[in-house]
Amino acid sequence: MSIIKVLINGYVKKENGNEYASSSVTLIRDHNLNILVDVGMNRQLLLDALKQEDLRPADINFVVLTHTHLDHCLLVGIFENAQILDDSSVYTFDGKISEYDSKIPGTDIEIISTPGHDQFHCAVLVNTEEFGKVAIAADLFWWPDDKDFKVG
Ligand SMILES: [Zn+2]
Repeated sequence: MSIIKVLINGYVKKENGNEYASSSVTLIRDHNLNILVDVGMNRQLLLDALKQEDLRPADINFVVLTHTHLDHCLLVGIFENAQILDDSSVYTFDGKISEYDSKIPGTDIEIISTPGHDQFHCAVLVNTEEFGKVAIAADLFWWPDDKDFKVG
């Protein structure tokens, strides 16, 4: 069983004529592993959120990128000890690329392909005691903060 926590709620906003965006960032703790799903593009916000969890970038073992839109993956390079996973491969900072069997190595956390928003989009399925099975879907809903979300 894993413990999950949304460290950063994703956002899109306009300020002074500029657009700012960053994805949600989710922390999964599984046994002794620290796993992030997406890392966003607001460096200070991410570092502060990790600090709140007594974590440094070097403490992260895996980063799962749900897709490669930059608002989800711009900061992945700061996690130099992590293995980076996408919908089909594991990447390490020595340039190695290998395939995996749909689960984060050493865990029962599953990564499934969910093309749609992006051709290579994936979602993360996590078994938790608190919430049962959780899907971290990323960009399932997407709209600017200054507009109301309406169904139908
Ligand atoms: Zn996206």
